[in-house]
Amino acid sequence: MDYVSRDGWGARSPRSTTSVPLSAREEVTLHYSTGSTGQSVRSIQDFHMDGNGWSDIGYNWLVDDDGTVYEGRGWYVQGAHAAPRNRQGIGVCYIGSDGMSEAAKAAVLEVYDEACRLTGRTLARKGHRDINSTSCPGTDNYNWWKSSGYRDVEGTRGDDMVGLKKGDTGERVKFLQSTLMKAGFDLPKYGADGHYGDETAKAVLAARKSQGSAQDFGDRITGWAAMQINQAFVKAQAPKGGEAELPETIQVSGELEVEQ
Ligand SMILES: [Zn+2]
Repeated sequence: MDYVSRDGWGARSPRSTTSVPLSAREEVTLHYSTGSTGQSVRSIQDFHMDGNGWSDIGYNWLVDDDGTVYEGRGWYVQGAHAAPRNRQGIGVCYIGSDGMSEAAKAAVLEVYDEACRLTGRTLARKGHRDINSTSCPGTDNYNWWKSSGYRDVEGTRGDDMVGLKKGDTGERVKFLQSTLMKAGFDLPKYGADGHYGDETAKAVLAARKSQGSAQDFGDRITGWAAMQINQAFVKAQAPKGGEAELPETIQVSGELEVEQ
């Protein structure tokens, strides 16, 4: 994963750090800064350290509208972004308001994929509003985050396909295969047989290409690949009514984030 290091954006040194092992991580938590998209990472850090009195910038990672990823506290240090789950959650902040650019979305997914790869498992996707009473990370951003790569089909969680690779077998592979078939990418020889072989890899690649991917193999389902497969699925199912509306959450001014 390419990113701008702390030195790269002129970070101040943290006043203190609390280490977190990767094994303690359970989720990636999305935030937004609610400021302008031109806000500098350093100004966010100054606000968190001088305004809030925190030890450092609150987030583990930040992304901007150009799709650049910035190192906040990084993978191994506890953040201050969504107490009481700062230990479990890797906090990623979009620098801007509700309505992320495609480049920013891709960057968030890149951080997510890397987090899953490093921890060796599929981490949950949370929005700040799942943990505290806040509008963060904005309704459009939140809906995108919860639905990209996640599609509830016949009671199976869509994110179950993330991490699958060629050679895998079982129910999750069946789910992937049935999603591909419903998206219009047929598996004429074997159908949804629960074996991720050449035919499935070919359909994965075709589904991804239909959504603009430049990949030339379909051997592994990253978060990004799952999102493209789900997009293909959603397009194949359309038109079937509008997007799901989430209930309004309680709006509060400012973030309820405490360092702990
Ligand atoms: Zn937040």
